[in-house]
Amino acid sequence: MNITILGAHNCESQNTKLTSLLIDDIMVIDAGAITSSLSFPEQRRLKAILLTHQHYDHIKDVPTIAFNFAMAWASVNIYSTLSVYEALTLILGNKLYPNFLDFPQDKPTIKFTALEPYKAKQIEGYRILPLPVNHSTPTVGYQVTSPEGKTVFYTGDTGPGLQDCWERISPQLLITEVSAPNRFEELYKKRGHFTPNLLQQELASFRELKGYLPQVVIIHINPALEEETGAELATVARLLKHPITLAYEGMQIKL
Ligand SMILES: [Zn+2]
Ligand SMILES: [Zn+2]
Repeated sequence: MNITILGAHNCESQNTKLTSLLIDDIMVIDAGAITSSLSFPEQRRLKAILLTHQHYDHIKDVPTIAFNFAMAWASVNIYSTLSVYEALTLILGNKLYPNFLDFPQDKPTIKFTALEPYKAKQIEGYRILPLPVNHSTPTVGYQVTSPEGKTVFYTGDTGPGLQDCWERISPQLLITEVSAPNRFEELYKKRGHFTPNLLQQELASFRELKGYLPQVVIIHINPALEEETGAELATVARLLKHPITLAYEGMQIKL
């Protein structure tokens, strides 16, 4: 399994892009940086787009990728929970942009498939298991298992309390978020995000429960606070005696 981090941050600029992961060139999770990162031929190779939740930084490129597929008279498969579908109808409701969820009538540009939490689904040969995490709006993380049996779990945006998730997964790679340094802990805990301290507690509980720690990669980083967050994560890695890697745009991970 080859994973490319298309967007690793929670603020967009010339050098930082919003959350988006590309898996084996055919599947994307979260749409923060699809059209701004991939060429037209690369976009057309996409077989599935999975969305973790409805926040704008995670669905931003749904209209633009749909428009590009529509221009080629092709359709694109999007998978998520029903609450995300409802949110997409706000953007794609003919008021702000064409309704690619319903148009063209005989073969809509977006083929949306609703996923149910805890219910695994085979998508393009991959086993996809959506699991609820703790964020300010309904959010699912995805465990993705490749046809070769390689496994990654991506949490999406989440705060602490993932023991239920940990019990259900056994990934080789964990891609999760840390949105701010420890001094923002009280605020970010309420908003459903990790700080380095909060992540440390969750990783410790993972290790206690499962007897190992997967490779850990951090995304959804605030660029303005990246140095401070990175330094605190280095301390967490030292305390846990386990490497923690900050993601960056274009980073490639091979499993
Ligand atoms: Zn969010
Ligand atoms: Zn976010």
